[in-house]
Amino acid sequence: MTQLTPTFMRYLMLATLLMSSLAFAQEHTSKTTKIADNIYTFTTDGEYISLFVVTKAGVMVFETVNTSHATSMLAEIRKITDKPIKYAFHSHNHWDHASGGQIFVDAGATTFAHAEAYAWMLANTGRDMAIPTQSWSGKRKDIELGGVKVELHYLGMNHGLGMTVFLLPQSKVAYIADLVTPNRLPFTIVPDFNIREWERSLDEVLQMDFDKAVFSHNESKNRMAGGSKQDVNLQLQYIKDLRAEFYAELQKGTNPFLIPKVLKLPKYKDWLMYEEWLEMNIWRILSDEFLGPYPWRPEPSS
Ligand SMILES: [Zn+2]
Repeated sequence: MTQLTPTFMRYLMLATLLMSSLAFAQEHTSKTTKIADNIYTFTTDGEYISLFVVTKAGVMVFETVNTSHATSMLAEIRKITDKPIKYAFHSHNHWDHASGGQIFVDAGATTFAHAEAYAWMLANTGRDMAIPTQSWSGKRKDIELGGVKVELHYLGMNHGLGMTVFLLPQSKVAYIADLVTPNRLPFTIVPDFNIREWERSLDEVLQMDFDKAVFSHNESKNRMAGGSKQDVNLQLQYIKDLRAEFYAELQKGTNPFLIPKVLKLPKYKDWLMYEEWLEMNIWRILSDEFLGPYPWRPEPSS
């Protein structure tokens, strides 16, 4: 038996490895979905969704995510077209969105970030992050490639730095990262969000002219097909409800430190992470009540 055990263990390890690699392959199957003429969404895991647009002059990519995601996306693009990759746009500075840019730099693309995100990426370059080859500043930049127009909208403070909402006005498709996460509660303690400015920004997004929106995180069934302004409205309503219910508890005289424990928002009980993150979301509102809004910075002088 002592002779057999190491062999048995080896088989067990091999079987475990094989099973886990199969599970890995299933979970990480790349998925490309055509959502409009020459417009595609892409994911490797359902959790990070990118967009790419094929034009007669080349391809534009929105959100590189990381090297693994970018590599798979480039392979998927190559199944559709051999046109050059001209642009890869970063939505904002965060490592989990703006990594993997080198794949598209190597493919010959210009990688683009808003100046605020660019400066942060220079100072805080993530392990898997390439410095964008170009930055842009101000509130709006328009780009055209092969007859396809793209509007880059910077709405000021809301989440992270240099957050850009992308609009394809001809097809009325928007690409929105992190500001709207359909069917899911805001992430944990809502880090790096100025909540008041977030609400203002969502109001501005609602003024934009689009019918379909692709969200980098979307827990709806139709996540790859994209959502709509209704998702933006629901996100805004959640923030308003969270704040209003928190202040209603304060008004009742509830000890503020007990509010995260006692407050429930049953209207949102079916959203993903309701049980796990609601309490943390409320702690964030409580923290704003004590400290005031943060992060905050003066408007850059122009
Ligand atoms: Zn972010």
